[in-house]
This record gives sequence, C-alpha cells and structure tokens, in this order.
Amino acid sequence: METLLVFLTLLGVTSSEQLFVGDQVLRVMARNEEQITVLRVLGEQEELQVDFWRRPNTPGHPVDLQVSFPNLQGIKKLLDFHNLSYSIMIEDLQELLDEEKESMRRSRRVKRSTRTFDFGSYHTLEEIYDWMDVLVEDHPNLVSKIQIGQSYENRPLYVLKFSTGGPNRSAIWVDTGIHSREWITQATGVWMANKMASEYGQDLSITAVLDGMDIYLEVITNPDGYAFTHSSNRLWRKTRSINPGSRCVGVDPNRNWDAGFGGVGSSSNPCSETYHGPHPHSEKEVKAIVDFIRAHGNVKCVISIHSYSQMLLFPYGYRRAPAPDYQEMNELAKKAVKDLAAVFGTKYTYGSIANTIYMAGGTAVDWAYDNGVKYSFTLELRDSGRYGFLLPSSQIVPTATETWAALLDIMVHVLEHPY
Ligand SMILES: [Zn+2]
Repeated sequence: METLLVFLTLLGVTSSEQLFVGDQVLRVMARNEEQITVLRVLGEQEELQVDFWRRPNTPGHPVDLQVSFPNLQGIKKLLDFHNLSYSIMIEDLQELLDEEKESMRRSRRVKRSTRTFDFGSYHTLEEIYDWMDVLVEDHPNLVSKIQIGQSYENRPLYVLKFSTGGPNRSAIWVDTGIHSREWITQATGVWMANKMASEYGQDLSITAVLDGMDIYLEVITNPDGYAFTHSSNRLWRKTRSINPGSRCVGVDPNRNWDAGFGGVGSSSNPCSETYHGPHPHSEKEVKAIVDFIRAHGNVKCVISIHSYSQMLLFPYGYRRAPAPDYQEMNELAKKAVKDLAAVFGTKYTYGSIANTIYMAGGTAVDWAYDNGVKYSFTLELRDSGRYGFLLPSSQIVPTATETWAALLDIMVHVLEHPY
C-alpha cells in the first residue's frame, strides 16, 4: 500500500486532489435578458455544480461555464431548449490540467540552483516565498519584505516593499492573486517585482516613480487558496475559511470589502463562488490590507490584478453612476490599454466595473476609492477565452511584459498628479 501511495505521489496523483476528467468549459452567448436569467438560475442550482468562469452580465457578452462530465448532456439539452447557442471552449479540463502539471515538472527538472528562478513557469507558494527572500537579498537597498498579517490557516501575508528611502512617502499598492485560481496574476506579480528590482536606475520611468514614491506589492494575496489550488483543487477561487452552519468553505475575497457590501453581484449563499462573507472584512486576508492601507495613510493608488477577459476597470462596481473622477480615470485607462496593445497587439476593453463587466458589490477598488484613494484600478489579464484560468505558462512572460506597460502608465500618472 505504501509503495502504491509513493508511486501515485510521484505521478502527482494524490487521493485528495480533485480530478476534472471529461469536464468541459462552454462559452454561451445570451442574446436577451431572458436568456441571461436562464443562465443565472442555472448557476444557482447547486446539484448541477456549474461554475461560472465568466458570469452572466448583459446580452451580447460571452458567458463561460464549467460543467462536470455527468451533467454535460443535461446542460447542453437545457441550453438548446432555451435557444442558447454555445461553443466548447475547453474539451477536456483534465487534459489541460495534466499539461500544466507536466510543464511545471519540466521547469523544476532544469532548475539549476536555488538562485535561478524560471519566470516562464508557474510555481508553488513555497517556491515563490523562497524566491522573495532571494530578491530581497539581491537588492537590499531597494526591496524589503514585510508581513501584514496571517491568513485564516495561519500562513504569513507577505508584501514586498520597494523604496529608495524617506519616511512615509506616498505609495502605490499592487496586489495579485486575491482569487487563487487566477495563476497568471501571481506569476505576473513575481515577474513585475523582478522587473522593478532589476530596472531601477536603468529604466527612466520606474526610476522616476521609485525616486518619488514607494511601491507595495502583495504577490500571493490569498495564500490558503493558492496552496489549495496546488494540493487539492486547481480551480479554487475563494478563501479557505470555514462557514459555520454550512458544508461549503470560503468567502469571495473580492466581495468582502466595505463598499456596497452585500449588493448586486454578490451572494449570501456560502456555497456560491461570489459569497460575500458574514460581514465586511470578515476575511483575514482582506482585513490585513484594510488595516495596512489605513495605518499607512498615504496610499495614492491601488491596483488589484485579476484574470481573465482583458479589461482595465475602475470604480464603481456597486453602482452605475459615474465616479467623480470618471473622466480622468477613463482617459488614463484609454492610454494604458493603448500602450499595452502596442507591445503584442493584445486588445483590452476599459471602463467602470459596473458598465464594462457587471455590477459587483464589495470589491477592493471601490473600497479604496471610497476611502480616499483616487487612483483605483483593477485589471483582468489574458486571455479573452481560449484557456481562461489555465493560461499556458508560455504566455506568462508576454502577459507580464504587456501588463507592465499599462501599470507604468498608471504609476507615472500618479507620480505626476500629486494630491
Ligand atoms: Zn478575480
């Protein structure tokens, strides 16, 4: 028995890991409100285990849904019945997951020492935390690591601080991976940290930004979720906190902020992927950021990075009315997506959360904006719907490179518009 277990572990197959053999991701086009409602109701049927990769919003926007193998025929019949046209985005989810695992294993085999790090590969929590220490060691005058709290399962919440000196300078906050399955975001965070550290003093823009401001970067914002995506369920989105009285685990950490909390686009059902939690800032991972930004008192910009669907968004999410700084944010977003597209031609849409993607209560950027952070943006990185959350690692460096162009635009604008 023991040898069998060792053998299975070597294969990367452990008893606790959830498999998705034969599961598909369907891309559905809803043409009217009635069809949107059908999809919403579908998502609420727990026994159908439908997981939205892209939620229903307004007619004409694609909706991506993951369907388990046993429910496939039934769901397809139901879609046909309601005249909902669909295509198969991912034919067999497990096949893609196996490929991803194999590519991580390949990268590990060629790794030469603890000081080499493959930026073109996905990494575990431990690998990223170890790499952070190497980065700090290599750039002691620029980068330090601070701990802003602990996760629900008592993992440290680390933030990389980039600073060229001066007490309590105005600051830019960037977070990646608050939704754990959005692996391209943590990988982009790692790449950007390395970029800032290695290009300070060389690249004019980042040098100017860091000569005037501090940058705080939380790469693994939801470490419990991230560890869980490696050990048990690659597609885990939420935190890992226990919900008393429910068999379902976790809260959506981007519906948990005290800004339009509990409103449209969030759920009071603990089993939902958009469960807002029992009260605002109930999640330790969220509360740690709230406390940090409040205590700092001089954060001028918050950039929260997600995937996927290639969008650059800003407040509000919890209401449709334009934010007071709409015009300025819209102009800046327009420039940022133009410069992003100039790198590899990747097209982004932009606008307020509510009018571009969907209404969503309790998001990080709305909280930041309502708490005095004028420049609050959220990005949805690649892709627009071929691989979704399972973006191949060959796209990490290109994605990070183009994203960096947009981020630099925002940072330089914040530097040049002190308030
Ligand atoms: Zn997300």
